[in-house]
Amino acid sequence: MEKKGGKGLSLARRLYASRTLGLALGLLCVGAGMYPLNPAPWVWGVMLLNGLLWPHVAYQWARRAEIPFRAEHRNILVDAFLGGFWVAAMQFNPLPSAATLSMMAMNNVAIGGLRFLLKGAVAQLLGIGLGLLVFMPAFVPQTSPMQLYACLPLLSIYPMALGWICFRQAHTLGRHKRELLALSRTDSLTGLLNHGAWKDQLEIEFQRCQRQQQGGAIALIDIDHFKTINDTYGHVAGDIVLRRLSKMLKQNLRAADVAGRYGGDEFCVLLPGLPLDRAAVAMDALRDRFATLGYEQNPALKVSLSIGLAAFNPAHDDATLWLNDADQALYEAKTTGRNRVICHGDGKPHKALLDSV
Ligand code: GH3
Ligand code: MG
Repeated sequence: MEKKGGKGLSLARRLYASRTLGLALGLLCVGAGMYPLNPAPWVWGVMLLNGLLWPHVAYQWARRAEIPFRAEHRNILVDAFLGGFWVAAMQFNPLPSAATLSMMAMNNVAIGGLRFLLKGAVAQLLGIGLGLLVFMPAFVPQTSPMQLYACLPLLSIYPMALGWICFRQAHTLGRHKRELLALSRTDSLTGLLNHGAWKDQLEIEFQRCQRQQQGGAIALIDIDHFKTINDTYGHVAGDIVLRRLSKMLKQNLRAADVAGRYGGDEFCVLLPGLPLDRAAVAMDALRDRFATLGYEQNPALKVSLSIGLAAFNPAHDDATLWLNDADQALYEAKTTGRNRVICHGDGKPHKALLDSV
């Protein structure tokens, strides 16, 4: 809808609020500085236009611009230029002049850092130059009490408002950062952790097992003949199978278990604190349930899983060796007939193991 929104429209909105407030308060301050100088009516007119109308014109200008950011850049320079102009017009009356210039400088540095600060300073100097030409001012070295009071709202309210706007901005950025981080750790198809994020968790779990001398297991799950499923039923059906498996993982694991998509048709699960035999029972139940799932659009479709399990081994130096054990077990599950759970170092399908007990 907002075609140009990505290139500074939110900046224009923020500046609209701060400019409307700042220039209204600035009008009070500059008006008090100008009042004793008895300026011509057109000067009052320009002052009112600058203080009350310009913020709305500037916003509409930026909103309609191809690149609102650039338009705002120009608007800020206009602000600075006019600020300099009023400083000369007030005959450099110290307090209103300092208040006007410093509030604008604060605004510029908050928006564009040193670059905007310097550009704004140049624009202020040019504005002062024009003011000198128009008003041929003398220097008024004193600020009256009335002028001081008129500057107080600008000096007290405006920094607070700008601080609030910056805080909100930082807050929003923080939220976006967290959302992006979560996205970068999530597999978009299944909503599970992606490869990198799951491996981070594996590393953490490995270190925890080492520290606490506590066991745990990991499982690598691979869909059998998934390529054939894609070739026979299409990739959309393949995606449905992947999502069904991830949903089943989410629904059937304990809260402490961590499931991820290792890549392609391979999934991975961390089972903290679970002895290998209990992990095998849990994974075999999952395998069994998954094999009986029906698919409305493809009733003939049946899918089985091969699962390799490995227990935490305190003799291992790092987590990749643990993963390697699970990978070997998965390989065995694949090479000994698929549709089974194999525990590393066990060599027999889990079902056969149970039957023999
Ligand atoms: P095996 O029984 O030995 O595991 O054989 P397989 O066919 O399951 O394994 P293979 O590695 O040969 O094929 C995996 C296929 O998964 C190949 C790839 O096109 C497919 N695949 C990978 N990612 C996706 C995905 O996101 N969606 C779909 N539909 N297919 C995917
Ligand atoms: Mg496979």
